[in-house]
Amino acid sequence: MDNILEVRNLKKYFPQSSGFLKQQIAYLKAVDGISFNIRENETLGLVGESGCGKSTTGRTILRIYPPTDGEVIFQGRDLAKLNEKEMRGVRKDIQMIFQDPFASLNPRMTVKNIIAEGMRIHGVGDRKSRIDRVEELMTTVGLRPEYMFRYPHEFSGGQRQRIGVARALALDPRLIICDEPVSALDVSIQAQVINLLMDLQDEFGLSYIFIAHDLSVVEQISDRVAVMYLGKIVELTDSDELYNNPLHPYTRGLLASVPEPDPKKPLGDVLLKGDIPSPVNPPSGCRFRTRCPEAFAYCMEAEPTFKEYEPGHFAACHLLE
Ligand code: SF4
Repeated sequence: MDNILEVRNLKKYFPQSSGFLKQQIAYLKAVDGISFNIRENETLGLVGESGCGKSTTGRTILRIYPPTDGEVIFQGRDLAKLNEKEMRGVRKDIQMIFQDPFASLNPRMTVKNIIAEGMRIHGVGDRKSRIDRVEELMTTVGLRPEYMFRYPHEFSGGQRQRIGVARALALDPRLIICDEPVSALDVSIQAQVINLLMDLQDEFGLSYIFIAHDLSVVEQISDRVAVMYLGKIVELTDSDELYNNPLHPYTRGLLASVPEPDPKKPLGDVLLKGDIPSPVNPPSGCRFRTRCPEAFAYCMEAEPTFKEYEPGHFAACHLLE
C-alpha cells in the first residue's frame, strides 16, 4: 500500500523565556526527531502518557504549530515548506477531531453552521448544496438531520463528538488526525464512536492518526502503533505484535497499567514509577532511564538507536542490541 504521509525527523521546540525582559533561556523539546509513515486506508495509533508529545505531533503535522525542523510529506509535498495559502488548500485533505467535544464546538453556532463552516470557508458549493451535504453527513454519523438547527448544548457528549466527526468529513479528507477523540466520553459511548470511525474508514478509504493515552482503546482501532516517550518514538510495530511481543520496557510498563479483561492475554511486566521528566531538560542517554527498572550504566551515556529488530518491528533500547 502507498504511503499517504511520511514524517521525517520532525521536531517541535517551544522557546522558554523568563524574567522581565522575557529572555529566552531554553527550549521545551515537545517533539524531538520522530519519523514514521502512514499508508492509505491505515490507522496509526500514537500512544504515551500525557506530556510525551503525541498531541503536539498531530498539531505540528497540520501546521497548527509550525515545525522546528524535519519534513512532513503528504501526497508528495513537504507541508513544512508550504506557505499559508498553499497550506490552506492542504487543510481540506487533512482534518482533525479534537478531544473535548464540549470545548471544540462553538456554542453560539448551530450544528448546520458548524458542519458547513469548512465548506463555506473553502467556497465549496452554494447554500442549498451545503445544507444537502450537512443532511447527508448527519445521517452518515448517526444523527437526525432535522436537528441541524439546534445548538451543541442540546446534544449529549457522544452526539457532540459525532458532530465533530461530521465536521471533519465535510470536505472529503484523505487523512484525519483524531486527538484523543474518545477520552472525554463514557466507556459505553467510546465504543460507539470508535465503531463509527472504523465504519467510516471502510466506507471512505480514510487514513487516521489516532492519538490516545489508553492502550486498550488504541488496540481496537489501530493497524500499527507508535509508542512515544518524552518527544521520541520508542517502539513502532503492528498492533497485534505490540500487544503480544512488546520489546521496549516503556511499552511493557504501559501494558502493565492497562486493566486486562482477558486472562489469556500477556500483560506487561514493568511497573511504571515516578513522573515523566521535563522535556526542557530531558535525561542524558536514554530518556526513559530515570524510570526504567532495567537501566544500566551505559543507558546514561548513549541514546539508543531506533531500529528494526524484527520485520516491521522497530524499537530504541540498548537491551535489544
Ligand atoms: Fe531502559 Fe536502558 Fe533500554 Fe532505556 S536503553 S529502555 S534505560 S534498558
